[in-house]
Amino acid sequence: MVRENSALLPFGKRAFYYVNGVRNMTENQSRILAISRGEMPSLTELAGLIAGYTEEDRVFAASLARETADRIFGRKIYFRGLIEFTNYCKNDCLYCGIRRSNRNAERYRMTEEEILNCCRWGYQAGFRTFVMQGGEDPYFTDERIVKIVSAIKQEFPDCAVTLSIGEKSRESYQRYREAGADRYLLRHETANPEHYAKLHPPELSLENRVRCLHDQLDLGFQTGCGMMVGSPFQTAEYLAEDLLFIKKLNPQMVGLGPFIPHHDTPFRDEKAGTVEDTLFLLSIVRLMLPRVLLPATTALGTILPGGRELGILAGANVVMPNISPSDVRKHYQLYDHKIGTADAPADSYQQLREAILSIGYQPVIERGDYPKEAES
Ligand code: SAM
Repeated sequence: MVRENSALLPFGKRAFYYVNGVRNMTENQSRILAISRGEMPSLTELAGLIAGYTEEDRVFAASLARETADRIFGRKIYFRGLIEFTNYCKNDCLYCGIRRSNRNAERYRMTEEEILNCCRWGYQAGFRTFVMQGGEDPYFTDERIVKIVSAIKQEFPDCAVTLSIGEKSRESYQRYREAGADRYLLRHETANPEHYAKLHPPELSLENRVRCLHDQLDLGFQTGCGMMVGSPFQTAEYLAEDLLFIKKLNPQMVGLGPFIPHHDTPFRDEKAGTVEDTLFLLSIVRLMLPRVLLPATTALGTILPGGRELGILAGANVVMPNISPSDVRKHYQLYDHKIGTADAPADSYQQLREAILSIGYQPVIERGDYPKEAES
């Protein structure tokens, strides 16, 4: 006799079955369970899992991942106010809509006062983390970044500041840290050097990217790495390498969203990553690193309406709504059809709050730091 497990799992599916009272798990589900116990599969096993998971396996992973996140964070979802303060970039990453050789991108940079005004609006709306993200814009020298970070920390001492401004020297990171920056987001993009070389121009290397991440961790930043899911040339083996890299690095944050093509890049005709793969990998990352701060990204919300909510149900516990002024956000087009580009900050924020409440989770007014081991 086969009887379904009584627990209703996300998306209305049931994840596993009892056969004569004994839970009957697939090999993939046993692997997923092993990951949740801290036992990492080999590269080949992980690649097999990524290439061969079924819808049931995905729902199984999501239910375990959500249970894990609920145990550590309760039903709290942390909000980060994302300020996309410049779209000038000296880099030429092949996937990115603000790459330097995109002559059609209309370039902008915000002033210090405009950035502070975003924080002022964000603070009264309930944000306690501000994420300054931008292209690698040489105008924003270390002096300018230090001045802005110091000004934010002085006016909002109870808030965390996250920087996401690319590859810098250790000395630069140290200066940002001394100015009060708390966190740094720098996706590693792919842990495989050959794959890295197919996504980036020759002057950029995985080696330097990884050096940056180690410097950030050494300097005491809460550090985030991550990758796009479904980027051109990506294979299940490369994703398995990413997971093993993430496990070993043990960062406090992981940024993971689908690749989406941009019409003015060399990857304009490539396929976007899938919702299913992104959700599955979010769940695996949550199980690998239970305490990790894991955003449900805007890119996930872009490929599927409600994608961010599914990301939360798959184990994410952070969202990063855009709080940049309406007139600039349409120019920060990393990929096509990015959501929220036509909205006012209050609208996109309010919609996301309501969406999160509607799935039974609680948007909270907190800095939302990486939890200490004892808290988890
Ligand atoms: N310059 C900083 C850096 O390199 O970390 C921050 C800005 S960069 C645009 C932020 C992230 O956007 C990248 O790490 C990349 O993963 C993501 N991104 C860029 N183009 C994308 C695309 N076409 N689809 C999905 N994500 C993309």
